[in-house]
Amino acid sequence: MTSPRPTLVWFRRDLRLADHPALTAAAARGGPVIPVFIRDPLTLGAGAAGKMRIEMSIASLARDLAARGSRLILRSGDPLTVLQSLIAETGADAVHWSRLYWPEVNARDAAVKSALTAQGIAAQGYAGHLLFEPWTVQTKTGDFYKVYTPMWKSVQGREVDACLPVPALPAPDVWPAGEDLADWGLGDAMRRGRDIVAAYQTVGEAAAADRLATFIDRKAATYHTARDMVAEDGTSGLSENLTYGEIGPRALWHAGQRALHDGKLGAETFLKEVVWREFAYHLQHHTPHISTESWRPEWAGFPWNTDESHPHVIAWKQGRTGEPFVDAAMREMYVTGTMHNRARMIVASYLTKHLMSHWRIGADWFSDCLTDWDPASNAMGWQWAAGSGPDAAPYFRIFNPATQVEKFDPQRVYRRRWIAERYTDPSETALSYFDAIPVSWNFSFNAGYPAPIVDLGEGRQRALDAYKTARS
Ligand code: FAD
Repeated sequence: MTSPRPTLVWFRRDLRLADHPALTAAAARGGPVIPVFIRDPLTLGAGAAGKMRIEMSIASLARDLAARGSRLILRSGDPLTVLQSLIAETGADAVHWSRLYWPEVNARDAAVKSALTAQGIAAQGYAGHLLFEPWTVQTKTGDFYKVYTPMWKSVQGREVDACLPVPALPAPDVWPAGEDLADWGLGDAMRRGRDIVAAYQTVGEAAAADRLATFIDRKAATYHTARDMVAEDGTSGLSENLTYGEIGPRALWHAGQRALHDGKLGAETFLKEVVWREFAYHLQHHTPHISTESWRPEWAGFPWNTDESHPHVIAWKQGRTGEPFVDAAMREMYVTGTMHNRARMIVASYLTKHLMSHWRIGADWFSDCLTDWDPASNAMGWQWAAGSGPDAAPYFRIFNPATQVEKFDPQRVYRRRWIAERYTDPSETALSYFDAIPVSWNFSFNAGYPAPIVDLGEGRQRALDAYKTARS
């Protein structure tokens, strides 16, 4: 009897070992398992912060594999070519991966699958990135959901399989050669901000599991009220880990369900937020134009500014609009690679409404700066705030940063944390912003805090007028 041949497991945004259906299925075939990460156009196309963050995640996965007697093989190039070379070198007869549901990745993976299948390789995608694959959730009429609440109602009682344990990972007799992660230079585009942003990251599978446990233990009970307070540590912070697949959504789901069962009231809101992520993927799958075009066609001609070099856009990106809540949030993102959800809604509303600039400009800037960047949640969040998306905030709901601050940062803690120029004894976090920004931005703490670039009342009225004109 011949011994089973190796299986390649092609890791992408599923950089974990537990609850990894593709990895478990590979191990179950009985032969050696060869984990692979490919520096492909998808990896290189990520934003500066995302590339830096995935480098950290790859390093963590490699360490976890090494601790189990396995290895992460790194290669660069077109995935099909790389996989075919590895098949030739190792004698593998199967390639497994986790489905990612990004439109461009779906098309690429389908081409890889059909080419490998044609040469007799068992090429197979698996679930794991989502709780519910987008085509498994349907309205009663067989349509997809365009509104969140009915989707939540349809999935909230569904059975979700238990999380899978880490499988044993038999090593091949001879490992194929791999590249060195340090040579990839994935963090280089961050330049001088790299170390500053890196210090805020919570990287890897063990850290993600700890984060979930801490959240359930200390924060789940009050999550429903604390989650909007921008200066509080009231949320899980897990979006960063979900983005790279350092934890799977089933772990969040089951932990949230147990917390709910234990009487932790905020857990239901947490579960609902996890389903917002599912909804984003559902929409991206069924209407892929959500990432590039206004989801509602009637918004196609809306007179948004599309000029990235407009001084208002530059001020927004640099956290120098003179609107403290907006600037605090933009600086938080620049320094930490993340931004509180409430703040994301406010800066997005401000850019698209008060500054009348296209949501795509904002979505692109987020994709460059966020370490939790996710194409589905980002596109949905931006179109929700702009009013052009499904289940969006109505156009006349224009967040006023000045009144939002009274509700969500009444003690001005967030403002003080991120804005230095307004204070004689600025906080260290606020000052670190000036060490993170590119030298080419050419301003410093001494430049003083700018006056508002737009009067909030006038900006609001201009947006409402433009909307009325566009509608008529
Ligand atoms: P928690 O409050 O602990 O929630 C738990 C999980 O639920 C999150 O980790 C996340 O996976 C999911 N979730 C929570 N809120 C949302 C939401 N509104 N939409 C979708 N999923 C949600 N999220 C990203 O992961 N990547 C992005 O690129 C991204 N861009 C956004 C852009 C805009 C303009 C807006 C308004 C929202 C965006 N979000 C994005 C959603 C949300 O802001 C983040 O998921 C959230 O801030 C993450 O913090 P947390 O992990 O502490 O979330």
